[in-house]
Amino acid sequence: MTTHETLKTVFGYGAFRPYQEEIVEGLIRGGDAFVLMPTGGGKSLCYQIPALHREGTALVVSPLISLMKDQVDSLTANGVAAAFYNSTLGESESRRVLAQLHAGQLKLLYVAPERLMTDSFLERLRGIAVSLFAVDEAHCISQWGHDFRPEYMQLGRLRALFPGVPLIALTATADSQTRADIVHRLGLEGAPWYIAGFDRPNIRYTVTEKVKPFAQLMSFLRERGEGDPGIVYALSRKRVESVACRLAEAGFRAAPYHAGLPDRERRSVQEAFQRDDLQIVVATVAFGMGIDKPNVRFVVHYDLPRNVESYYQETGRAGRDGLPAEALLLFGYGDVVVAKALIESGRNREQNRIELHKLNAMVGLAEAVNCRRRVLLGYFGERLSGDCGNCDICLDPPQRFDATEEARKALSCVFRVGQRFGTGHVIDVLRGSTGERVRQLGHDRLSTYGIGRDIPAESWGSLLRQLVHLGYLEQDLANYSVLKLTEAARPLLRGEQRLILARPLVKAAQKKGAAKRKAAIPDDDLFQALRALRKRIADREGVPPFVVFGDAALTDMAARRPATADELLLVSGVGRHKLGKYGYEFLREIAAFSGGAPESGQYPPDPET
Ligand code: ADP
Ligand code: ZN
Repeated sequence: MTTHETLKTVFGYGAFRPYQEEIVEGLIRGGDAFVLMPTGGGKSLCYQIPALHREGTALVVSPLISLMKDQVDSLTANGVAAAFYNSTLGESESRRVLAQLHAGQLKLLYVAPERLMTDSFLERLRGIAVSLFAVDEAHCISQWGHDFRPEYMQLGRLRALFPGVPLIALTATADSQTRADIVHRLGLEGAPWYIAGFDRPNIRYTVTEKVKPFAQLMSFLRERGEGDPGIVYALSRKRVESVACRLAEAGFRAAPYHAGLPDRERRSVQEAFQRDDLQIVVATVAFGMGIDKPNVRFVVHYDLPRNVESYYQETGRAGRDGLPAEALLLFGYGDVVVAKALIESGRNREQNRIELHKLNAMVGLAEAVNCRRRVLLGYFGERLSGDCGNCDICLDPPQRFDATEEARKALSCVFRVGQRFGTGHVIDVLRGSTGERVRQLGHDRLSTYGIGRDIPAESWGSLLRQLVHLGYLEQDLANYSVLKLTEAARPLLRGEQRLILARPLVKAAQKKGAAKRKAAIPDDDLFQALRALRKRIADREGVPPFVVFGDAALTDMAARRPATADELLLVSGVGRHKLGKYGYEFLREIAAFSGGAPESGQYPPDPET
């Protein structure tokens, strides 16, 4: 069988993704590999297909026990003999797995690094045929990386202990220092590198100015497909709790997740999310490492991430299955202020400097008025040849306008109120508020009173914020956020300089039509029916729904509406084994939709029963 045939018959896919084929072929020939691929790029197949093509058992090292089980469930659903060996197994289960290993019955064995590297286990391996070693999340071996795990260090001995066995290291996150470190520590100096880009074209990036965050979140959710799973990240535990609670009150299946919750509760939230029993997890950044859910359709940042790396990693949890997904950031200048204060309270000044620099880059991304993806990839040193066409800026280019007159009005109003008031009051005066405070202060007699009536308060708010951000105004945070003019404001006030600004993001977000173009997978009745069927089967078999079929397979099915087993096999994600196991139920569901029943004669028996 060729690797293409394996890809189709076992995994149900029609074509390799970038680099997969080269990696697979190289490994089968006995070579090593170092693979850097973004999340969702398809790293697993890179060693799973060679495992099926080589003699013996592949040993896969993975740091996260919860992920091992999902991987094994997925492989088993495709009819591949796989198991895991870690601390969650009872004694008799452990013995059974080891017996299978010695009997040569396993094509893949997932094992925790500390188990693999015990003397007794290594001794066992000498008695069997090892087809290859795969080190997943390989950055865990490096102290440069962000997730160093001491138990990974031992893996450095593998190369010398098993010189003839191919070794593949895979990671999604590695800067150049970490890369070099991984290669060095695993003894992969001679191995070819496969580096797929950072781009995640299926994720649509959107940044909206944060005004009323909860209302904004609700309107975002209402526009999305019903029941789409997603994650909402917020900075503090308190906010996580309150947002989750309000979502639940609004009728969403939502739950909070943060480090302050008991282990058991966190585990159950994670599991319910995996199983699509929970639609939305509201979480601090504590949530994510253990999440390998391919059909996360959106990630919302309720608060500003601290740096572009975190933003990339967190948004990267959306759309691992390659289908359209959305990343929404609610960006408020208040958050920038809080984040800065937090950083500056740190003891290590050098560290603070670096973190401030990183925060500024994040703010730059949020404020960008050109293609968001270009800015994001640019940060990682990658160039896009053109605008992406799939971010808020590309889809809805901000209008630029000459803000000179408005800016002058705002600046002189700040000056007239004596540089002793904050944004709210300045706007009141500009808009000619008849409020008591304005009158008591005599500010209704100022020359700037009411000169900005024709402009809505939010627009003034946005303008003032941009003026602060561009350095024409400064905000005294120690003193009720009082606005003061800076030197830079002079030429503007004197009319010696013009100021071009982008229309506020809020406006853009509210523009008619913009809201309609959501990044979503087709959400018709058939798709929903197939999704419900998938959930019933998954519950029956005690696995997460994506183990049965991914969203990609269901979408494809809903579009093609196969009527026969052969047609069903053409659907992406449907291999022989799953055809035998689930084919009939899905064909029946589709037929019921099209007003008929599948002809039983066309249906092949499960090849394995
Ligand atoms: P990674 O480990 O790189 O984050 P996975 O190996 O989990 O990514 O793959 C992500 C998703 O893409 C999975 O649902 C997987 O089945 C799917 N996938 C991988 N390779 C292909 C392919 N060649 N064609 C279609 N889907 C693929
Ligand atoms: Zn773009």
